[in-house]
Amino acid sequence: MNIPMVDLKVQYNAVKEEINRGILEALEKTQFILGPNVTAFEEEAAAFLGVKHAIGVASGTDALHLALAAAGIKEGDEVITSPFTFIATAEAIRYVGAVPVFVDVLPDSFNIDPAKIEAAITPKTRAILPVHIFGQPADLSAIQAICTKHGLLLIEDCAQSFGADVDGRMTGSFGAFGAFSFFPSKNLGCYGDGGLITTSCPELAEQVKVLRNHGSKVRYHHSVIGFNSRLDEIQAVILRVKLKHIREYNEGRRRVAHLYSSLMADAGVVTPFEDGIGTHIYHQYTLLTDRRDAIMKALADAGIASAVYYPIPLHKQDVFAPDYSGVVLPVAEDVSSRCMSLPIFPEMTDEQVRRVAAVVTSVR
Ligand SMILES: *Cc1c(COP(=O)(O)O)cnc(C)c1O
Repeated sequence: MNIPMVDLKVQYNAVKEEINRGILEALEKTQFILGPNVTAFEEEAAAFLGVKHAIGVASGTDALHLALAAAGIKEGDEVITSPFTFIATAEAIRYVGAVPVFVDVLPDSFNIDPAKIEAAITPKTRAILPVHIFGQPADLSAIQAICTKHGLLLIEDCAQSFGADVDGRMTGSFGAFGAFSFFPSKNLGCYGDGGLITTSCPELAEQVKVLRNHGSKVRYHHSVIGFNSRLDEIQAVILRVKLKHIREYNEGRRRVAHLYSSLMADAGVVTPFEDGIGTHIYHQYTLLTDRRDAIMKALADAGIASAVYYPIPLHKQDVFAPDYSGVVLPVAEDVSSRCMSLPIFPEMTDEQVRRVAAVVTSVR
């Protein structure tokens, strides 16, 4: 019995008939670009997330890029973000010509440390882009207060946090924009690439819709240089089916995480910390340990997958290191050297969780 990081097949099997039927209907209709399922998914996602507008785009990376572009962020601007995230967060900032300014993270939640943000603000700062890392909401009320005080935009990277809430309010509904990814392994995933931008501002929503469609509002009339970045009709079919189950999927992740944490309480590793600011939906279950290599080897020998998200903080990546040589972010650097993630998916059985936890516990 091998255990993968995420088992997409068991989830597909559970919703197979509805997805297959929906895809066949979409094929018969032949409205492949910005068709009825995209529109319906955008409305259903907006209602679920508690925002006025949700706009489907081609990926989570594009969601960040188009949100930054629609916000008018450009060359010469600075955007404050986390160094402990997937590269796309900072790539998108560079796509619009702006400079990512990395602020260190908290040692327990791994989210950006609000207490360190103000020192990084300069006259060039235009926005703060927190990441809800591993599915746990960043401290949005603290970050929002800083944005208000300094006149900055809040843009949320929600690629790992679909359905994670703070007191009932969803991540992606706090900022001027939320950017979501539907990469297959994300907690709401489609069967290819896909993304979503949320906003409650009608003007910004309109701007994003123009940008995703070649800078055009009226066909063959182009007002700005835009992009080809649309959510695909077939992916929208899949997402509409899965959206109906996202609460139960996220609850399944929490069940797995809590069982892991109780089984590994004495395993000599640091299990994930829930800071109580919002609901952690455990896109990843991430430990800290000084015995990472030994644990990963023992898991691999037992046929169990594991992964390091993320081994190198962004300011140390080859692409950024020359420009950030003087930057020291001790918490992100320490966490990157000791973190590792275990298999987690909503359908994981208690037996599978017990097997993984037993192997982790056996490494001393
Ligand atoms: C996955 C991810 C992205 C990028 O999403 P894609 O759909 O793969 O382009 C951006 N930010 C974070 C934090 C992610 O995990």
